Amino acid sequence: MQHYPSQLLERAVEEFSKLPGVGSKTAMRLVLHLLRQDTKSVEAFGQSIIRLRQEVKFCHVCHNISDADVCEICANPRRDHSIVCVVENIQDVMAIEATQQYRGTYHVLGGVISPMDGIGPSDLQIQSLVERVSEEDISEVILALSPTLEGDTTNFYLYRKLADSGVKITVIARGVAQNDELQYTDEVTLGRSIINRTLFNVNL
Ligand code: ZN
Repeated sequence: MQHYPSQLLERAVEEFSKLPGVGSKTAMRLVLHLLRQDTKSVEAFGQSIIRLRQEVKFCHVCHNISDADVCEICANPRRDHSIVCVVENIQDVMAIEATQQYRGTYHVLGGVISPMDGIGPSDLQIQSLVERVSEEDISEVILALSPTLEGDTTNFYLYRKLADSGVKITVIARGVAQNDELQYTDEVTLGRSIINRTLFNVNL
């Protein structure tokens, strides 16, 4: 057991240790680093985290992270609102935006179907996608999930849910290596895999 000279210090180290990938040694280093900064910059640091948690919103349309009720992409009239790219998470939206190859809109599922982790269709933003496709003037849905077993299962589930609507369903090209997460694919490869998307093939 570590003995801390201050409960305040111990408490702060404990909080930092809860972050993913941060052990107690790193947490201690970060806390001591903060203690060496002037009060104003540490306050700004704390405030940014509190405001993030309290004020951040999720877009009512696509569930992307947003400062307003509708995100900048959904609210942008220059985007092509007839194309919806379905992604797993917010990092994927950022990765695809960074390619500058896509001018449509998004739909953030919030994960993929994974029975092993207890994640079923109702835990994801699937119903709202089905509603968007039936209510909005959408001509194409691009499935851009990671090429993993869970991603494939989710693709197939979405295909079954959307097939009757008559919307064109495509998948991004498999330039993305097996089991690679989308957000870690380089921009050129990811951009190319969106441009070279193909019709979803149920038999694959
Ligand atoms: Zn949006």
